[in-house]
Amino acid sequence: MTTYDVVIAGAGGGLIGAIKAAELGLKVLLVDASPDFVTTCNTSKTTGMFPAAGSRWQQAAGITDSPEIFTQDIMKKTKNSADPVATKALTEVSVEVLEWMADALGVPWELVTDFHYPGHSVDRCLTVTGRKGYLVMQPIWDSAKAAGNFDFKTSTRLIDVILDKTGVTAAVVENPDGSRSEIATKNVLLATNGYGANQALLDKYNAEIAQVYYHGSIYSNGEALEIGERLGAATGYLDAYQGHAAIASHANTLVGWATVMQGGFILNLAGDRFGDESAGYSEYAAILNNQPESSGWLIIDKEIHDGSMSFKEFEVTADSGAIIWADELTQLAELIELPAEKLVNAAAAAAAVHSGKAVDEFGRARFEKQLIAPFGAIKLRPSLFHTQGGLKVNSDAAVLDKAGNLIPGLYAAGGAAVGISGHGSAGYLAGNGLLAAVGFAYLAAKAIAKAS
Ligand SMILES: Cc1cc2nc3c(=O)[nH]c(=O)nc-3n(C[C@H](O)[C@H](O)[C@H](O)COP(=O)(O)OP(=O)(O)OC[C@H]3O[C@@H](n4cnc5c(N)ncnc54)[C@H](O)[C@@H]3O)c2cc1C
Repeated sequence: MTTYDVVIAGAGGGLIGAIKAAELGLKVLLVDASPDFVTTCNTSKTTGMFPAAGSRWQQAAGITDSPEIFTQDIMKKTKNSADPVATKALTEVSVEVLEWMADALGVPWELVTDFHYPGHSVDRCLTVTGRKGYLVMQPIWDSAKAAGNFDFKTSTRLIDVILDKTGVTAAVVENPDGSRSEIATKNVLLATNGYGANQALLDKYNAEIAQVYYHGSIYSNGEALEIGERLGAATGYLDAYQGHAAIASHANTLVGWATVMQGGFILNLAGDRFGDESAGYSEYAAILNNQPESSGWLIIDKEIHDGSMSFKEFEVTADSGAIIWADELTQLAELIELPAEKLVNAAAAAAAVHSGKAVDEFGRARFEKQLIAPFGAIKLRPSLFHTQGGLKVNSDAAVLDKAGNLIPGLYAAGGAAVGISGHGSAGYLAGNGLLAAVGFAYLAAKAIAKAS
């Protein structure tokens, strides 16, 4: 029987861990429950924003940043509630892992500077042309398959991990034909994401968002959490989640917050604004959910439309016919059945804040532009993107038990581990999901190699 140095369950961020572990000389088996993880995993569904604090792309753009500055941003956004160990580990490894992805895996990172995500005090998100996780993942997977440095099984689900007194001894998987196998290994990395697709766990931990449309991977069934709990692991931040307030109801596609951060604003179905949109798209999901019919209208103009087309997902939304256009605000109001006076007044109020003649009644500091014709409206619904809480880990992504001791050989990354977004939804900063996915997987690979 083959014995692996590490079995990695989940090929989202886990793929990065598998490549790094194999590069460091470990014998690796990567399993994924999906028959086609490249299209179904959460990482592929993202807008591909990966934050790094102090990267060479920032230096080239003259931006000063560091893990300490990033940590301050995280602590400010989470009101000092983010897990300090995870925050330190991930902010510190952010540059190393993303520069390694560029140098070793050929990811053609670009620094996003054309608009500024809420909560980041400097531009630090890296992405690729098209701004879609799939466009990052597909080439990485193609070259990993060609290199063949590790074993890989699709449609193979991790269902348990076996421990003895010394630590992990085997991973138990369910094979595509429904049979079960024990795979000998001294280490298991749980990279199976959170429990966004598991209604019972959502009802238990995340009542605020449990009934809202889920836009993430259908394979996020919370198995890492359940396996970890059976093995006595400590858990944390299980109420934490990333929501998103800008899904187009038309065809359930992502509109994205770049629209808002370029000057768009949101009205409810009565035609009233109801908050400071620039606070963040994650917390705005629950806020939108509390509005009549859980819906709203995002109001933009052609310039904002054009400025958002760098996102593949926005292009898909625009192509789907989700945007209603008009040359006059009154005409737009008629088309979307809002009181014309309210729409005209909301646009005028936003323009007054933009030009410094007024202060926003909801405290929004900036409206980046005054909307000019033609005007567009997109009907929005809120959504859940992924859960953030999970198994407690140390700075090597090694899982801890309830007494704070290591469970030898057990590691967790991404949505399987505690995140760095504190409690609830308001602490989420763009990119912190992917940083936890690739950062912890990379740290786990290094730690396992060091200990082997
Ligand atoms: C539309 C959208 C946009 C987003 N944009 C961003 C963004 O730009 N930046 C950001 O930081 N975050 C973003 N996020 C959040 C991000 O998707 C997650 O934080 C991140 O992808 C989690 O990575 P992961 O590796 O934990 O999970 P995944 O990428 O989902 O990988 C988990 C893998 O495990 C497999 N799996 C599940 N259970 C098992 C099992 N029992 N055995 C074996 N395999 C299993 C799954 O099939 C899957 O392939 C976005 C989310 C959504 C939905």
